[in-house]
Amino acid sequence: MDLENLKQAGLKITVPRLKILHILHSGCKRHFTVDEIYQELIKQKASVGLATVYRVLAQFEACNLVSRVQLYNDQATFEAGQDRDHHDHMICIKCGKIVEFCDDIIEERQEKIAKKYGFKLKKHHMVLFCKCQNGCKNKEK
Ligand SMILES: [Zn+2]
Ligand SMILES: [Zn+2]
Ligand SMILES: [Zn+2]
Repeated sequence: MDLENLKQAGLKITVPRLKILHILHSGCKRHFTVDEIYQELIKQKASVGLATVYRVLAQFEACNLVSRVQLYNDQATFEAGQDRDHHDHMICIKCGKIVEFCDDIIEERQEKIAKKYGFKLKKHHMVLFCKCQNGCKNKEK
C-alpha cells in the first residue's frame, strides 16, 4: 500500500520515503510532529537525518500524501491523507489530547464568509484550543 502511494504520487521509492510513510500509516496515532517522526526513525534504527525528514514531508505535502496541521505554536504536525477526508481539530492545551471533528454548518458558514468578502474558499484548517472538561486523563505533555 505504501509503495502504491509513492508510485501514484510519482515519487521514486527510497528508504526514507517508505519508512516515513509507514510511520504515518502505522495506526498507533494519526498526528505526528516532525520530531516525533524523527524519534520513531531513531527507534527503528533507521539512519535518516532530520533534514531528510523535513524534505520528505515537504515532498509528500506537495503530492498530497500528507497534510500539515498547525496544532502547536512551535511545531508543524503532519497526518496521512489529504483534504478528501477533511476534518478539523480540537486539542487540549494541557495534555495534548487531539479530537477530530467535522461540522457541516461550520463548513458551510466558512464558504459563505469567504464569498461575502469576495473570496472562493480553497482550503482551511481550524484548530480549537481547549482544556479537557473533567481534568486531563491523558498523560500530561
Ligand atoms: Zn473544516
Ligand atoms: Zn487530523
Ligand atoms: Zn487534557
